[in-house]
Amino acid sequence: MRNSFYANTELIALIGHPIKQSYSPFIQNVAFELVKLDHIYLAFDVPSDNLKYAVSSVTALGLKGLNVTLPHKEKIIRLLDDLSEEASIIGAVNTVVNDHGKLFGYNTDVNGILESLLPFKDEITGSKVSVIGAGGSARAVIYTLIRHFKPEELFIINRTHQRADTLMNYFSLKMRYDGFHTMELFPPNIAGTLESSKLIVNTTTIGMAPNLDDSITDLEESFNEEQIVFDLIYNPAKTNLLKLAEKCGARVIGGMKMLVSQAAKSFELWTGKKMPIEQISKSLELYIDEKEK
Ligand code: NAP
Repeated sequence: MRNSFYANTELIALIGHPIKQSYSPFIQNVAFELVKLDHIYLAFDVPSDNLKYAVSSVTALGLKGLNVTLPHKEKIIRLLDDLSEEASIIGAVNTVVNDHGKLFGYNTDVNGILESLLPFKDEITGSKVSVIGAGGSARAVIYTLIRHFKPEELFIINRTHQRADTLMNYFSLKMRYDGFHTMELFPPNIAGTLESSKLIVNTTTIGMAPNLDDSITDLEESFNEEQIVFDLIYNPAKTNLLKLAEKCGARVIGGMKMLVSQAAKSFELWTGKKMPIEQISKSLELYIDEKEK
């Protein structure tokens, strides 16, 4: 990895709290190196009280842009000059571009979700889908499904039922979509809904390392060979949920493709260049294998 930087090296920062587990610095710095850009990407742990100072430093120090992660994705909006349509509807920003002192917010998770699901577009369009979870990433998933796949019915299933209802009411109005239903996350009760869904998307943290044994359901009757099951979690690459769905014959998608695709879109917004996705994915797999040893 490169270790010389110069007076005109461009800086892009990741801000969040905590940020220690992020793979984004690895992805972006390898990409800068491969594309031969004199750029550096650094992660900064920014607690909420310091968010406004971190954002004003982007223009004060002339950073090229930011990635934004939890817990700042929503709160940063009021500190920006303008938003993409997607970021504005979703209500969350994960990428900021500094365009001559004006800060523009984007949500590139949409691109990551879209790239992961596009191979199944014909099957998903017009069908019944289930989204588990009602947090930040569920908002991006729901937006992408309605905008690009127009499902006939969309179930939001969440531990806190009221949060699912809040999302349903918000997106019904904002996107004029009337196919919503909501349910409480309770495994025996959701099995029938999952089983009759063409697509199931897990947007919760259930099954994420280090809690590898957890799963939103361990009932085989939740899955069948007609289905597509997408888990946003990328660590582990294949969660218990995906292992069970695969055993039942479903086609499964892990979160790694979304992770790299959302990073690629951010890279493009900052630099105007394409990220070499295949090479980055291979390097990332090796990097994670090394880290896990
Ligand atoms: P978030 O806003 O904190 O939402 C977490 C969701 O998980 C909420 O719906 C919460 O339910 C639910 N949940 C958490 N613990 C639970 C438990 N023990 N039992 C039942 N439900 C539980 O998180 P997020 O930002 O949406 O991220 C969610 C996951 O997506 C993370 O694993 C993250 O790594 C992954 N992700 C991946 C990518 C990618 O590029 N692949 C991008 C973004 C996020 P309540 O509402 O009841 O609290």
